This record gives sequence, structure tokens and C-alpha cells, in this order.
Amino acid sequence: MSENVSSLLYIVSGVLFIMALRGLSHPTTSRQGNLYGMVGMGLAIVTTLVGHPPAGFGAWILVLLGLGIGGGAGAVIAKRVSMTAMPQLVAAFHSLVGLAAVFVAAGALYAPQAFGIIENGHYHKQSLFEMGLGVAIGAITFTGSVIAFAKLDGRMSGKPIMLPQRHLINALLAAGLVLLLALFIGTESKALFWLIIIASLVLGGLIIIPIGGADMPVVVSMLNSYSGWAAAGIGFTLGNLALIITGSLVGSSGAILSYIMCHAMNRSFISVILGGFGGDTAAAGPGQVETRPVKQGSADDAAYIMKNAERVIIVPGYGMAVAQAQHSLREMADMLKKEGVDVKYAIHPVAGRMPGHMNVLLAEANVPYDEVFELEDINGEFPQADVAFVIGANDVTNPAAKTDKASPIYGMPILDVERAKTVLFIKRGMGSGYAGVENEVFFRDNTMMLFGDAKKVVDQILKAF
Ligand code: NAP
Repeated sequence: MSENVSSLLYIVSGVLFIMALRGLSHPTTSRQGNLYGMVGMGLAIVTTLVGHPPAGFGAWILVLLGLGIGGGAGAVIAKRVSMTAMPQLVAAFHSLVGLAAVFVAAGALYAPQAFGIIENGHYHKQSLFEMGLGVAIGAITFTGSVIAFAKLDGRMSGKPIMLPQRHLINALLAAGLVLLLALFIGTESKALFWLIIIASLVLGGLIIIPIGGADMPVVVSMLNSYSGWAAAGIGFTLGNLALIITGSLVGSSGAILSYIMCHAMNRSFISVILGGFGGDTAAAGPGQVETRPVKQGSADDAAYIMKNAERVIIVPGYGMAVAQAQHSLREMADMLKKEGVDVKYAIHPVAGRMPGHMNVLLAEANVPYDEVFELEDINGEFPQADVAFVIGANDVTNPAAKTDKASPIYGMPILDVERAKTVLFIKRGMGSGYAGVENEVFFRDNTMMLFGDAKKVVDQILKAF
């Protein structure tokens, strides 16, 4: 296959990746988006294999083994993973992207002829720069992602671990890395290449360890962005257009996603990177227990109130995902609609543990898209609603975000559930949300707490109907 044809096919796969990202931006088109992504990736792999075939039978076997083992493991893991474990899965996969960048750069360094990056016994300076930078970003992404995975998966405390003098140590390490990179480009020393890797591995760990569990999804998205830039850097070394396009798409979309998350949580990106928010309760689960009295109701009470309502707004949160209550919830909404009740769903941009978490679960339960509304589109409707049905959500409804300047969620936009005539709150106990702050709405006169697992409570309400 000529270089022109393979370049053209790489561009086609790049266009398919862009169409995939576009498709993934809405639940109605997300399956199609996934399909575009798969076709694009398939095309890129075939183009690479045909355009630059592996040298010999042994190399073919290695490539096919890699495809089979990697693809097979990916398919099995993706099938088995639960929706709530998705953030840590993404973190684990990013660590592999980082590691791949390190291996590819090492491969290029040790077999420069194969990549055409050496002339008269000297590497191209530009290639040395790309390899050094790519390997540094790749190694930082690797250890950073492994620690993010461990924190999100509960294998390591989600609590921010404040190492003494960490900013100074990180700054010194970063400065040392720049120096090593400059020396590597100047001397072409393989030992310096490995030193860059070691320093970057340490730096990746040190950057992520102090960051609390609550900020981890932002960090995962940021690492996603890093891994993209690492891949793009290596793409230049290999002269592989597909890698440059894909890496840049991943790099920029990860950066945009980090920005959107920070914006939705009213957190500055810098303060996330400097660490120290939430986390503790994330690891501790239900959080602290409140002793003030609350009004408690039963499934029968909830069924009665909702049957007699005209408008019900459902506010799902992380607890709905944990309980997998979305199917029962849709059944409940269907029953209410049969009774002539107007039912809508209000989605907060950071409800759950990743952007779009609630949309995906509601789509899985076949909730009609036209009943699902974003925060800005529905917030004004709470005063006209008879019932705000809050199911496993907490922080995203907490008015402290508007009133308490000292609160870690101050400034985050929230769903104004307390403005509905009645607020029904389903949760297991009086535990706080992910940010670890108390929610005054529990104690309001118009609030009724329905204690229990979200799915069980909704099933009881269904029976009571
Ligand atoms: P939340 O504030 O974490 O609250 C979830 C509530 O669900 C908890 O208070 C818990 O109370 C309850 N719960 C847990 N398991 C349950 C079960 N099986 N049945 C019933 N209730 C259950 O959740 P949220 O309101 O969705 O807010 C999301 C939080 O995550 C925000 O602080 C946001 O900033 C953060 N975050 C989100 C993203 C994102 O992209 N979505 C990214 C980073 C951070 P009990 O323990 O009393 O049951």
C-alpha cells in the first residue's frame, strides 16, 4: 500500500473518530458513535498492518497474539464491569496507554532504523525530543492512573495524603525532568532515557497521591488527556498519522472534559491538582451520622403523595446507580404517568461519579429522552412541582452550595429540590454525600425521608400503588 493511500485511510479513520465523539455526546446517538469508533479503529489497525506489515512470521504471531489477548481481555472486562466501577476501569485502561507510550518510545530508541529516526549514527534531534517527552508523559500517566485506580477501587484510602514539602519536591522533580530531557537530547544517552522514565514514574505517583477521592474523576479525565498527548508525541516519532490524530483527539477531549467537570463543581483545575477536597467520606461510605430529628415516611406514604400529585420531578444520584434502581424507577414513573401525573427527570451535570452517569443509566432503563432535563432547563420548574423525588442524590441538591461560603461545594450549581411542595428523599441513612457535607434539606418541614436501599424502596412504592 502506498504512503498516500495509507495517509488517506488514516484520515478516514480520524474522521470516523470525530464522528464517534459527536455520536457519544447524546444517548440517542451513542451506540452509533461507538460503532463509528470501532470501524475507525479497525480501519487504522488494518491500514497499519497492510501499510507496514510485521517483518516475518514471528512478528505476525506477536501482533496477532497482542490483538487477541488485548482485545479478548478488553471485551471480557467491559462485559463484566458494573456501571459504578466504570471510573476505575477507565483509570486502569489509561495506565496501559501510558505504559504503551513508554514501550513504543523504548522500541524506537533501541531499533531506530526501523523507524527511520537515525542518520550517520545519530538520532534526529526532533525524534529524541518526541521520545523523551512522550516517555515522560506516558510514565507519569502510568503511575498516576494506577494510583487513581487504587483510590477509586477502594484499594487505597480516598483520603488526600498530604506529603510534607510535596509542592517543593514535585517542582524539583519537574525541573530535574526538564534537565534530564535536555541532556538526553544532547547526549543521546540510553541511561538518561531510563532515568527520565524513573523520575516520571515517581512524579506521577507524587502528583496523584495527595488528591482526594472526590476529585478523582477529574484526575482520571486529566490523565486521559495526558495519555492522548503522549500517544500523539509518539505518533510523530513513528510518523503515524492515525496515532497523531487519535492522540490529539483524546488529549483535547480529555482536557475539555476536565474543564467541564471542574466548571460543574465550581472547582478550579489548579485546586484539584493541588488536592485536598472530599475524599475522606468517599472512602468511608455513608459518612457522619446526624442526630437532629427528621420526618420519616413509608413507601405507602410516598405512593399516596405521588398518586395525588400533578407534577413529579425525579432527581437521581449516585445511590440510584449503586442500588441499580433505574428499572424499578422507570416502572414507577410509568405507573404515575398512567395516573395522569406529569413526570420529569432532572439531571445534575456531576450527579453520580462521572459525567453522563445518570443519562446512561436512565437510557439503559428505556426512560424516554424527552422526559430527561438538564439542570438549567428544569431548575425553574421545582416551585411548580408537587413532589421532588430524590433517589440516592445528595450533594447535587445541597443548598449549602449557595449559602455556606465555607462549604467545599460552595458555588456549585444545585438542583433546587427544596422549592417543590414536598421533597421525598430516598437514602439508606443520614450519611453525607461525596463531598462529606451535611444537607439541610433533610430537616426541612416539607421533606420526608424514605430510608432504605433505593431499589428496595422503589419496589415497595410500586407494591403500594
Ligand atoms: P452523593 O452526594 O455522593 O450522594 C449519594 C447518596 O446516595 C449518599 O448520600 C448515600 O446516602 C446515598 N446512597 C448510597 N448508596 C445508596 C443505596 N444503595 N440506596 C439509596 N441511597 C444510597 O451523590 P450525588 O448527589 O449524585 O453527587 C455526586 C457527587 O460526586 C458530587 O459531590 C460531585 O461533585 C461528585 N463528583 C461527581 C463527578 C461526576 O462526573 N459525576 C465527578 C467528580 C465528583 P446513604 O449513605 O445515607 O445511603
